[in-house]
This record gives sequence, structure tokens and C-alpha cells, in this order.
Amino acid sequence: MPRIRKASSATRPAAAVPAEWDLSGLLSHPVRDSDLILKQLDQQVSQVEARRPALAPDLPVGGFQDILRLLEEIASLSSKLSANAYLWFSEDTKRAEARSFKTKVEERLAGLQNRILFFDLWWQSVDGPNADRLMAASGDLRYHLETIRRFKPHTLSEPEEKLVNLKNTTGRSAVNTLYDLLTNGLTFTLTLNGRRKILTREQLSIHVRSPKARVREAAYKELHRVFGGQQDMLGEMYSTLVSDWKNENVTLRKFSEPVAARNLSNDVPDEAVTALLSACTQNAGLFQDYFRLKGRLCGIRRMNRYHIYAPHPADRGRYRYPDAVRMVLDAYRGFSPALADLVRRVIDERHLDARMRPGKLSGAYCYSAVPGLTPYVLLNYTGEARDVATLAHELGHAVHSMLAADHSVFTFHATLPLAETASVFGERILSDALMAQETSTAVKQGLLISQLDDIYATVVRQAYFVLFEKTAHDMIAKGATTRDLSAAYLDTLRQQFGKAVPVPDEFRWEWLSIPHIFGSPFYCYAYSFGNLLVLALYQQYRRQGRAFVPQYLELLAAGGSKSPEAILSRVGVDIRSAAFWQSGFDTIAEMVSELERTAD
Ligand SMILES: [Zn+2]
Repeated sequence: MPRIRKASSATRPAAAVPAEWDLSGLLSHPVRDSDLILKQLDQQVSQVEARRPALAPDLPVGGFQDILRLLEEIASLSSKLSANAYLWFSEDTKRAEARSFKTKVEERLAGLQNRILFFDLWWQSVDGPNADRLMAASGDLRYHLETIRRFKPHTLSEPEEKLVNLKNTTGRSAVNTLYDLLTNGLTFTLTLNGRRKILTREQLSIHVRSPKARVREAAYKELHRVFGGQQDMLGEMYSTLVSDWKNENVTLRKFSEPVAARNLSNDVPDEAVTALLSACTQNAGLFQDYFRLKGRLCGIRRMNRYHIYAPHPADRGRYRYPDAVRMVLDAYRGFSPALADLVRRVIDERHLDARMRPGKLSGAYCYSAVPGLTPYVLLNYTGEARDVATLAHELGHAVHSMLAADHSVFTFHATLPLAETASVFGERILSDALMAQETSTAVKQGLLISQLDDIYATVVRQAYFVLFEKTAHDMIAKGATTRDLSAAYLDTLRQQFGKAVPVPDEFRWEWLSIPHIFGSPFYCYAYSFGNLLVLALYQQYRRQGRAFVPQYLELLAAGGSKSPEAILSRVGVDIRSAAFWQSGFDTIAEMVSELERTAD
């Protein structure tokens, strides 16, 4: 792995575009060091195994904590190793060495994980009073221990669990790698200013936001031509993944329905998810009104699905990377200097890989391996306003886990429903800071439009992905083909957009291009959850001002040490209530009215 020579942050221009990130905080030489680490892990696992005969419900607290400490060490070391494998792979998904390293690490870790599986199974079998006795003395690990027990009704026998783990590395995980490999290798052809250009997915997707209607349309058509061209391969991968999900979660683990497995791992009651999704369908009309209005304000002659992300004429165009970094830092500083310092640390330690290049994993993510190690952020910076927001977003993830660094490796990660809180809040902080600086009505109109576009893309669009997935999982169980699924997808789009935004037929292929639908079934409602939640929290911030900040930082610092419901109830949020989700949409409705007023 090419490691950049060490440079002190004092001698380096603070905001230079980072060429590649510095992974030396993980392993200096992954292939060589990993053997050493795997050996060390092997020894630690043997130590846990040696304690197996002592496991009994009346196990003394000391012995129990001894095992927990070993398990924490194993989890930390494993997590560093898998982080290294994944980050290295993301730098260049075409590098064979990185791919085989990732596979090797996954297989070896799954093997080690299998050897300590008995602990979780034993822990699930401990009677209530003894479990309470042991948890009472486990401090921060309590929620982690509760989490293991929560899965008891859906846990198989030890040999079965081992088999599932082992087969997953060559099963669903291999199919996911194939999906990444195939889709990251796709290229797209677009004629721009009379010249044919070969583009990556990332480069192509810039053009769906082009100021020219013809280019937006051509970009979508090309996206769907290429993905539609892979329908057989991708459709087969999808039905494999969906059948695997059903076989494991419904048939073997006895979940009531496919989405219930995701809900339990999110620790969100099924009824809260239902309330969230129905709030989204009930408010689809709000975005239909918005897109009608947007069409008028942006001079779009005939609004349809090609044009929903059209830029406002006052959009400022491109942002240089150093300016983007400065804007994001300033915005965070305006909200809380402590948060800005954490953001600064990610940048100064060069844990940020922003440069776009062929083979690099598309999209953006933040990877927090262990508490105390500054998280790593990957993005593909193209200079669009959207990328500045992505920067604020991913750095929000980073500060979230940095604030929670006092927790154990088992409890510092926010659980999924809260995982998007700090990231989306970061985006709100950024857009608010930009709004506050603006004096021109036209530019304000542009900012409101870009915020509403984002809210659409992260709330309603994501909810409809999940609604589609629910249908697709049902349909595949009944033998549906890729064509059937695509027709169903087109239906959900048409329900979503109504008459306000006609959806051309080719959008039936769009779902093939959404990685989460393949890689993490039902994941996307976490975005709707997180975004609506943040809209509500941001209202609280506006009302309470400074007094809100410590309360919010405390919410982030809780990481994943309690259930989402418990963490949120401390700030007065009830996730089961329809009224709460509706309040998020009320905030959006206010923004649409504000936009309407700028039109007068
Ligand atoms: Zn995110």
C-alpha cells in the first residue's frame, strides 16, 4: 500500500487537497502485519476458549468481566484489521492484491468469530436474575449485553450459527463484492459540448444536476441504458441476496417478515418504522407541490423526473476544495468550537481521502474502526455544492464517533437509526450558515431549493426505496423476475410523484443502481429516520439557541450505549408517535412556504 511520507501538519498547507489518506494509524504494511495480528487474535481467542468450562449462570462477576475484557480486545483488533482491508480495497477496487487481502481477512476473522460464538449463545441462555446480576456490574457494556440477549428468540444452535457465518463469506458477502466490482467498473458515454466523453458513475451523476435540461435527460438515459443492460446479471444477484435474506431471517430465524430482522438489529420497534414510512407516503404530496413550484422558479418548461435536481439559476457553480473545507469548518465552529476542533483533527491527521480517481470506490463514507482512533473519511470530490454538503455530512459521522470515544468498542458506534444524526445535522448547520450570510433573494431561493432537493433525496426517496424492497422481497418469494420487479419499482415511483412529476419508463431500471438495496436490505429507512429526526432537533436548536448545544453533544456522546428510543426520549422525542414524524414534515412544509414567499 503506498503510504505517504510523514509530514507535520504545520509545514503542510492546511487545506491542500489530500492526495490519499494516511492509513498508517491502522497497519503500516497490511499483508505482512496482518499475519502477526491474526496470530495474536488466535491466542486471545484461545484464552476465551479456555474459559468455556467455567461458564455457568452463577459465574462470579470477576470471571465474567475477565472474559468481556478479552472479547473487547479481540473486537478492537479485528475491527482495525477489517478497517484496513476495507479502506485499502476502497482506494482501488481493481487492485487484485487488495481484493484478495480483504477476502482473506474476512475469512480468517469469520473463523475466529466462530470460535467465540459460544459466549453469546451461553449469555443468551443465562436466566434473568443472573443476567441482571452480571449486567449490573458491567457498566458501559450493559447495552451491548442486552443487545445479544435481544436476539435470543432468533438465534440458532452453535453449529448452525457457525455454518451461517462460514457460508456467508462465500455467500452473500461474495455476491456483494461482485456487485461492487461489476458496478464500479461500468463506464458511461455522454456527449458534452459536441464531444463524446467516457465517464465513471460519479462523473456521470454530476450531469443529472446540469443547468441544461438536455444534458440532465441524457445523463439519466445513459445511466439507465448501462444499468438496464446489466439487468440479467444484477437481477440474478439481487434475487440471490433476497432469497438468502429470507432463508436466513424468516425461514431459519423465524422473524415475522424480512424487514423485522433489520428493525431488531436497529432496536427500533416495528411500529415506529411503520409510523415513519406511512408519514412519508402521506406527505408525498408535499414534495409534489414543491417540485411544481421548483419547476416554475427554475424555468423548467415541462417538469418531469429528469429535472427534479435541476439547479436554480442563482446556483454558484463549483467550489474549490480548500474553500469547501473552510466553509465546513466555519459552519461547525459557528455551532460549537469543540465540534470544529474534532473536524480539524480528521483533516490534519490526513484521515480524509477526497480525490476522485478511476477504480476508487464511488460515493462517500466514514469508517470508525475503534474508539480513540480518528475515523477515516472517503469521498469523491467533484466541486459541486452537493460535495460540500457531503463533506459536512461525512465529517459529522466522524465527530459523532469521536465524541463517543469514551465508550467501549461495543458501544461507541451509534446504532443505525441514530447513525445519521450528526451527519445530517452537520449538513443543516452548513446550509444555515450559508443562508445567514446571504443577502440576495435569488441566492436564498437557490439555497432553499438545494436544501429541499436534499431533504427530498434523503427522506421521501429513501423511504420509497424501502417500500419497494418490501414489495420486492414478497415478489421474489413468489418467483418474480427482474422485469416484474422493475415494473413494480416504476409503480412506486409513480405513486411517489403523482401527476406533478411524470416518470419516464426507463426509470424502471433505477433500483439496479442503488447499492444499499443490494448490500444492506431495508437500510435506507435509517436515512429517512435520521433526516426527519434532525429536522425536528434543528427546530429545537432554533427555539432554544445555545442552550441546546450541550444537550445535543450529550446525545451524540451517548454513541450506541443505549437504545435509540432511550437516547431520544432524553430530548423529548417519541419515535412511536405519528405526530413526531409529522412534525418533521411540518418543518419541510414551512420551508416550502418560505420558498413560495421568495417567488412573490
Ligand atoms: Zn451518512
